[in-house]
Amino acid sequence: MVRAIVGLNWGDEGKGRMVDYFASEADVVIRYQGGDNAGHTVINEHGKFAFHNFPSGICHPGVENIIAAGSVLNPESFLRERAELQAAGLSCDAIVISDRATIITPYHLLVERLEEERLGEKKYGSTLSGIAPTYADRYAKKAIQAGELRYREHLRDRLTDLMEYQNRILTGCYSHDPLDPESEFQRLASWGEALSPYIADTAPMVDAALDRDASVILEAQLGALRDIGHGIYPFTTSSSVLAGYAAAAVPIPARLIKKVTGITKAYSTCVGAGPFATELFGDLAHTIRETGKEYGAKTGRPRRIGYFDAVATRYGARLQGADEMAITCLDVLSGIDPIEICVAYDINDSRTDRFPIYPELVRAKPVYESAQGWSEKISGIRRFEDLPAAARNYVRRIEELVGVKATHLSVGPEREALIEM
Ligand code: GDP
Ligand code: MG
Repeated sequence: MVRAIVGLNWGDEGKGRMVDYFASEADVVIRYQGGDNAGHTVINEHGKFAFHNFPSGICHPGVENIIAAGSVLNPESFLRERAELQAAGLSCDAIVISDRATIITPYHLLVERLEEERLGEKKYGSTLSGIAPTYADRYAKKAIQAGELRYREHLRDRLTDLMEYQNRILTGCYSHDPLDPESEFQRLASWGEALSPYIADTAPMVDAALDRDASVILEAQLGALRDIGHGIYPFTTSSSVLAGYAAAAVPIPARLIKKVTGITKAYSTCVGAGPFATELFGDLAHTIRETGKEYGAKTGRPRRIGYFDAVATRYGARLQGADEMAITCLDVLSGIDPIEICVAYDINDSRTDRFPIYPELVRAKPVYESAQGWSEKISGIRRFEDLPAAARNYVRRIEELVGVKATHLSVGPEREALIEM
C-alpha cells in the first residue's frame, strides 16, 4: 500500500513524527520534494532529531529511505547531517539519493541571500537554503542532477557552461564578484565522490517495492499552504508539496497512492513572511509558543502562532485529497479557555469560506466561533474516551469543519504520545 503523509497547513504540522510512527510498519519511506529547508522533528527511543535531508523513516532498521527525483539536495548539508546522525548512533546505510534529484550548489545559496538582501523589507523570509534558485534553475534546465556529479569530465563541462550564465547574474544583477568555475568544480566533484555510495537510479527500487506490494510512505517536506501553485504565493516554497505531485516526483503511478494522511496542528503556526489570518500576538501567542516549543526546527526562529484556521485547513485538505487526518499538539491547548476557531473570513465586507489569493487574503478578517477549553494536562492519555469532554468536542468540531475524519491525535512530541481513534 502506498500512503502519502502530507501537511494541511503552513508546514511544521508534525509530519516527521507521524512518518516516524507509521514507518514502523513500512518498507520504504520516500521524501518526494523540497530540500534541507525542512526540519522534521522526531523523538523516539534513539533520541531527538530534526531531520533536514533525511526521510523520517531513518530510525527504523530495515526501512529503505529514498530522496526522490523531485527533491533538491545540498551535498554538504547531507554529508554533515549523515555524520551527525551516525554520531548519534543511527545507521545511515539505508538511504538512497535519486540520481535525478537536483543539486543545490554554493551559487544557489549565494544568489538567494543576495536576492533577499535586495528585497530588504519585502523579503520572503527564506531559510536561505537555496531552494528557490535551485528549483528555478531546474525548470530553466540550468541545474545539475545528482548522478551527474559522478562523471568528472562531464561535470566540468556542464559547470563551465552553467557558471558562465550564473556569473552574469551575480555580476550584472547583484554587482557581486564572479565565482571561479575551477574551484566550484573541485568542490562539487569532491562532494560527488563522497555522495557516490548513496546515489542510484531509484526507479528499479521503487518498481520492485510496488511489485511486491510493499508498504511505501511518501513524505512531504512542507504543508499545503506553501504549495508553489496553490498556496500563499509568493510566500510559498518553490515546489509542489501535494500528495498528487508525489506521483510525478518519485515517480509512482498516481492510482497507486491509496491513502492520503493529512497532518494538521490543533492550532496554527507559520514560519517566515506571508499572510496569516488568525495570527495572535501578546501573552496568548507567547504561552502557546513556549508550551509548544514553537521555534523553527531549521532556523530556531520563533514561529508565528494563531488559532486553528478551518478555512485554510479545509482548503489544504482538499488540495491534498486527504482521506484522514492526524491532529497534533492537542496537549498544547490545555489551559486555554475559550479556544477560538476561525470558521470564515470577512474580506471587503463580504463573508467567505474560500481560501483566496494573496491580495484578498491579506484583507481577510477571521470570523471566530468559540469552543470551550479544558484545564487538564492530557499528555498521558492514550484513549479518545479518556480526554476531557471539551477536548473531544474540539476535535469533533475540527473534523466537522475540515470535512475529514481524524484517525490520530498527538498529545506530546514523543512517538508514543499518540491516540489512535
Ligand atoms: P514537520 O516539519 O511537519 O515534521 O513538523 P516540525 O517537527 O517542524 O514541527 C512540529 C513541532 O511540534 C516539533 O517541535 C515537534 O516536536 C512538536 N510536536 C509534534 N507533535 C506534538 C505534540 O503532540 N505535542 C507537542 N507538545 N509537541 C508536538
Ligand atoms: Mg518542520
